[in-house]
Parts: sequence; C-alpha cells; structure tokens
Amino acid sequence: MITELQLPPTQHYIEGAWRASADGGVFDVENPATGAPLATLSAGTATDVDAAVRAARDAFERGPWSQMSGADRGRLLWRLADLVERDREILATLEASDVGRPYVESFMFEIPLVADTFRHFAGWADKVTGTTFGLPPFAGQERFSYTLRQPLGVVGAITPWNAPTMILAWKLAPALAVGNTVVVKPAELASLTTLYIAALVAEAGFPPGVVNVVTGSGQVAGEALVRHAEVDKISFTGSTAVGRHIAAVAGEQLKKVTLELGGKSPQIIRGDADLNAALPVIATAVFANQGQTCASGSRILVHRSRVGAVAQGLADIAQSAVVGDPFDEGTTMGSLISSAQLDRVLGYVERGLAEGAHLVTGGRRIGTTGYFVEPTVFVGDNDLTIAREEIFGPVGTIIPFDDDEEALRLANDTEYGLTAVLWTGDASAVTRFTRQLKTGSVWVNAWGPPHPALPWSGQRASGIGEELGMAGLLANTIEKTVNLVSRG
Ligand code: NAD
Repeated sequence: MITELQLPPTQHYIEGAWRASADGGVFDVENPATGAPLATLSAGTATDVDAAVRAARDAFERGPWSQMSGADRGRLLWRLADLVERDREILATLEASDVGRPYVESFMFEIPLVADTFRHFAGWADKVTGTTFGLPPFAGQERFSYTLRQPLGVVGAITPWNAPTMILAWKLAPALAVGNTVVVKPAELASLTTLYIAALVAEAGFPPGVVNVVTGSGQVAGEALVRHAEVDKISFTGSTAVGRHIAAVAGEQLKKVTLELGGKSPQIIRGDADLNAALPVIATAVFANQGQTCASGSRILVHRSRVGAVAQGLADIAQSAVVGDPFDEGTTMGSLISSAQLDRVLGYVERGLAEGAHLVTGGRRIGTTGYFVEPTVFVGDNDLTIAREEIFGPVGTIIPFDDDEEALRLANDTEYGLTAVLWTGDASAVTRFTRQLKTGSVWVNAWGPPHPALPWSGQRASGIGEELGMAGLLANTIEKTVNLVSRG
C-alpha cells in the first residue's frame, strides 16, 4: 500500500543529533517524475564532515560501541532490519519520490533486500574470528602464532542515487557487523531514504556517533570525506570517473578503498536459448529502474539466427511498457533521475543514429513534465559509442554473433567487467563461458539483484575489491598477526 510521503529530518545526522550545516548552506531536491520540489537538505562542508568523522572516531575508540560484543552488535542490526520492514511502505514511497522509479520496484525488491542485508550481516557479527597456526619453534623457543580480526576504524561510505537504500545497506551492514563506525555521504540527488534510515538507526538504539550522515555535494562533502586523515577506508559506489579520482587520492594517502563502479554488461543469447523464457528477463535487465542500473545488460549479444526474433520480442515488450507516474499501479517504467540524465540518454540515442545503428524502437522523450524516455532498442555492432559507454538509461543494443568464440570475444571486448548474463540450455557452454567471462559475476538463464550472501565485485574499470558476502565482510577488517614466543 502506498502511504503519504513522510519526510525524514532534513539535516545532517551527527553524533546522534540532527544538525544544520556549519555555514547554514542548503540545497533543494525535486521529485523527478513531477519536477515538484521535494525537500531542502543541508549542504555539507568540510567542517560538517570533520564533525561527523570526529564523532565516528570517538564512538569507535571510546564509546559503548567499542566495548560491545558481536552478539549485541548483531542484535542492533537485527532490530534495524525489523524497523526497515515495519516502515517498508514509507521507505518505498520516499525512494520512488526521490528517484522516480516505480513504487512497486522499491516495495517488492529494494526495501526487502535492505532488511535482508541487515539480517544477513547481523548473523556474522559474533562469528568473525582469527586463525591459529601450528608452526615449528622460533629460535629454539615454543611459538604460538595466531591472527586477530579487528575492525578498521572509521569507514567513509559514499553512495550513488540509482539504488540509494540498497547500496547504503550494502555498506552499513558489514562495516557495523564487525565493529566499525561509519560516516555516510549519500548522493545529492537521492538522500532521503538514507536520512530516514539514520532515524531508524537512532530508534534501534545504536550509540551516538556509530552511524553519521552528511548530505551535500560530491565535490565538497564527498571530497572532504575521502581526504580526511581520520577515515580508515572509503567504500565508494558510483561512476568509474569519480572512482578513478578517489583511487588516486586514496593512493596518495595509502587509504583502503572498495570501489564498485560502472558497467557495460553483456547478455549472451545463444542459438539454443529458450526465447519465450528469456525475452521478458532480457528486457528487465535493460529497462529496470529506467536502465539506471550498474548491472544493466545493455549489450545484447545474439546468435545471428535469432536476431530478428529477439529484436521483435524486445520491441513488443518495449512498446507495451507503461511509462509514467511511479505511483500508478500499472506503471512499469518511471522517470529518469534528472534533466541532465535525460540529456545524456537522448544524446546517446542521437550518437547511435549518427554512427549508423538501426533503431528498432523508442528513442524519444515522453511528455514535457518529468524525465520520461521510451524504452529503446538498437541493432548495431560492438564498436558503436552506445555499445562502449555506460548510458545509464533504458537503451539496449543488439549485437549479432556467429559462434561461441565470437560471443566470448565481444562479451570481453569492453573496458568494464561487472556482470554478464548467459542464455543457453547447454551445460558445457555454461562451464566454458562462466570460466572465461571477465566479470565479477555471471547470471545463467536469469538476471536479478545481488544477494547479500554472495560477493559482489567488478573487474577492470568496474571496480576494486569486494562488497557483500564473506569477502565483503572481511574487507571491513584488518587481520593482525601475533607471534607469541614462550620464554618459560
Ligand atoms: P557519481 O560517481 O556521480 O556519484 C556517486 C557518489 O559520489 C555521489 O554520492 C557523489 O556525490 C559522490 N562524489 C562525486 N564526486 C565526488 C568526489 N570528488 N569525491 C567524493 N565523492 C564524490 O555516480 P552516480 O551518478 O551517483 O551513480 C551512477 C554510477 O554508479 C554508474 O556509473 C553506476 O554504474 C554506478 N553504480 C555502480 C554499482 C556497483 O555496484 N558497481 C552500483 C550502483 C551504481
């Protein structure tokens, strides 16, 4: 059920309190589907970031959090998951209003995944341990060597606007489970659910300073967080361009980073694929969240014998899509996030046409209010700009191939390496393709969001390091080696 919009407090959340920016600065956010003003948020400065980092450092070193058992941290995370579930409708309403995506996508998929992520990592909170080693004596003395798994300290979490609540949970849950404290800088275009979750963090009973949120621009608040000397790690999800910049700053400072970046992921449709089953999912992988998905399968590699059928099938689905008000029950696609994103997507459509791609369907703006675009399908080749650059809009390009070797070559012929989808009924092809695809994950005969138990990572320009799963949990820890030599 859709509820009335319930805005969270619109100031920074620092040390358990809501605070205006030190210089009083604010910025406005709009509902992209209507263009109507939605909220006025605090524009964080380096001073606000410094206050948040100091609060997080203090909570890490001295507050009750530093003494809390893993079981108690897990209990708090579990309570937070319960509160997210209780307020599922409020959160889905906020996200649909802030991002412009269909309410049903947030309500059915995103918000439940947020709760699942907090619960999954709640279960790990008292189970992260070091290792013991049976080594020979050291300099003739008995030796006992073991490792301690310890939290890093203060984690800076920087999130994008496309799935702001889910990605917040991906960063908060593992970092908190192992005992870190966190300062979040959410995307300036979609901060509302992060602020709402900060309010739930307070209600759940997390001690002040354990979770802090500073809203504002990437150039000011984000940059200050990345450069702050008291931040031990930056966990960033966003564009490859900003990821490269953060990696360079972190490199100078020798700060730990996890970077989850852009993608240009292939969907490979072999000649034996069951198209009836595949087509709706192929379309979802391109058009879900208006194509503003890092894992979007926007390069649709199709065996030449099936190109006509896939183009027709996707055109039928695209033309029957209901693009409009995110809160209408029948809506399947909402609005792009901003006018800049609309210009970007339409610019890529023009570029595709100019470079000779064949437009199968779509390509135009719908209406003049909001930023709605027709779901769009091209047929072309892998050298087109629309096949090489991340569009982050509902635009897919069908690219024909003749055999498996060519399909694999095309799939890997990209600077990115986030994910891939393979459509086939042939188990030997599955083994061959999944080994050779240069991506962090592969879906076979399906596509969907990551599960918190599974590691999520990108190769090449799609990122560095893991998020989620055991690997993502341990990426929030240091493993310290202890050598104890007996002198008795
Ligand atoms: P973006 O890089 O523009 O912004 C992401 C975040 O970084 C925002 O909070 C922004 O304010 C902040 N930022 C910008 N400049 C900064 C700076 N100099 N220092 C510190 N922070 C700064 O990305 P976006 O447009 O919000 O998100 C879309 C991108 O995110 C796409 O490329 C998409 O593929 C990627 N993404 C990746 C994943 C993944 O898991 N790999 C998931 C979702 C989105």
